[in-house]
Amino acid sequence: MIREINCQVAIIGGGIAGLVSAALLSKYGYEVCLIEKENHLGGCIYNKIENGHILQGGAHHLGGLGEGEIVSNILKELSLYSEELFIENNPLIGKVEAEEILVPFRLNKLKDELISNFPLEKNNILRFFSEIEYFKEALTVNNSIKVLKYFQAWSRISFYDLLARYFEDMKIAAYLCALGPGYGGITSSGSAFTMVSLLATYGSGAYNVKGSMNTLVHILEDYVKKNPKATILKGALVNKIDIENGIVQSVECLSEDCTNVVRLQNLIVTSDIGNIYKLVCTKVKNNRFHDKINSLEIGYSPIRLFLSFEKKRSLNDYIMLPSFDVRKWDESLLYSSTKYNNTISMFSFPTVVDRSLCPKNQDHMLMTILTNSELIKASREDLQSKLYNMVDRYFPSITVDQVVTTVATNEDIEAKTFNRNGSVFGWKRGINEVINSNIIGPKCMFKNFYVAGNWGPTFGVYGAFYSSKNAVTEILNNYEARAL
Ligand SMILES: Cc1cc2nc3c(=O)[nH]c(=O)nc-3n(C[C@H](O)[C@H](O)[C@H](O)COP(=O)(O)OP(=O)(O)OC[C@H]3O[C@@H](n4cnc5c(N)ncnc54)[C@H](O)[C@@H]3O)c2cc1C
Repeated sequence: MIREINCQVAIIGGGIAGLVSAALLSKYGYEVCLIEKENHLGGCIYNKIENGHILQGGAHHLGGLGEGEIVSNILKELSLYSEELFIENNPLIGKVEAEEILVPFRLNKLKDELISNFPLEKNNILRFFSEIEYFKEALTVNNSIKVLKYFQAWSRISFYDLLARYFEDMKIAAYLCALGPGYGGITSSGSAFTMVSLLATYGSGAYNVKGSMNTLVHILEDYVKKNPKATILKGALVNKIDIENGIVQSVECLSEDCTNVVRLQNLIVTSDIGNIYKLVCTKVKNNRFHDKINSLEIGYSPIRLFLSFEKKRSLNDYIMLPSFDVRKWDESLLYSSTKYNNTISMFSFPTVVDRSLCPKNQDHMLMTILTNSELIKASREDLQSKLYNMVDRYFPSITVDQVVTTVATNEDIEAKTFNRNGSVFGWKRGINEVINSNIIGPKCMFKNFYVAGNWGPTFGVYGAFYSSKNAVTEILNNYEARAL
């Protein structure tokens, strides 16, 4: 059976980027069709529920929630913002062997922490942070000219090199890099632009969403469902895109009972652009896309261990750093825990800030490591015991009363999202990837083809809001221009 659907905007992918795009278009009364291959929405954001514990499989830290910032602005635009929805996270603890450093997310607190630890560097610290504040301001008001200026200045150098321009004592680099490894495997050798974006997006604090990040998925889905002109196709895998004269005409997706032919005026792609590119590459005229997309390396894959405890704990989120000399954080150190004892990993205790995630007086922990190494090939049991040993070493006291142990591997994420290797943030965010992925965005390849979410220059949940807003704004502007 063939079902035909006509819409102004079709969106491939019902992750957070697809949902934000669909919600914004719904707000302005557009006919949208959101197409998701799974039977539920959320993509990288999903929960496992075990013994009353809500274990978050994907993202759980959210930035951009300060006054006037991207995520809060969009939620306010949709009348979905409520202060009660978010809980600010405690500062991170960076652990370097026996030494612990406090790494607050908020820029003003991070600055104070640095000044108190490195008083001789005070003037340099103030200079550096005032530059980050300027950049954050440009991001917040979406001043594309200023953001581009920063992109040009910072995308071609490593974060370490940028810091070396400001500071004498490079131990500061370890402090500032501590926010990177847990959030996409970005370290001192990654692009300065990406790391600074990360500092800026969490600059007003990192937040947990009350009841888990999935709450955001639900409220956005409910919002879209209220739009009488919206169609949500679940369990519908896009496998064909029809393009004529450089304009996308329709997409085809298979669902259980039929083939859906979705005729459209605009297309927003939020799923792995590499996979979608295979469907359209013969129609792409500009070789630039071909070369650049093919040169992009897939980013790191997450492995997550979930542990639940019978007793309540009060631990901040921890990030384990191998040494204070960040130049030693090369890839082999970062991603292969079989070889080194001190793989960078992140231990999050979301129940400390949101008790609604677990039964009373209980607690749980999510351990995340990012890997592109041989760990990917290890069996589930093997992985579990390796990760468990790491927990034992770092937190010897907390394993005693543990009740649930589960591992989510990159295969699980890949099966869910089709992101190659289950990549957390799309492309690896090295210098070349950042420069090359800048071609991906509104608008690229075809006149009515937009990309939002993980696979453009921005990443994470914040990046999904940011790029979706840009894609939708461009579409709305085009409709308005045509109406005049
Ligand atoms: C373990 C882990 C921890 C993370 N932690 C954080 C964090 O703390 N903070 C943060 O900001 N970010 C974090 N992230 C990253 C964040 O979750 C992602 O950047 C974000 O959710 C990506 O959203 P998206 O909509 O761009 O893509 P996705 O969530 O990948 O959504 C794409 C959707 O497209 C669908 N799809 C794919 N192919 C097709 C097709 N052919 N037809 C139809 N549908 C298709 C997929 O099923 C999927 O639902 C984490 C990710 C992981 C995996």
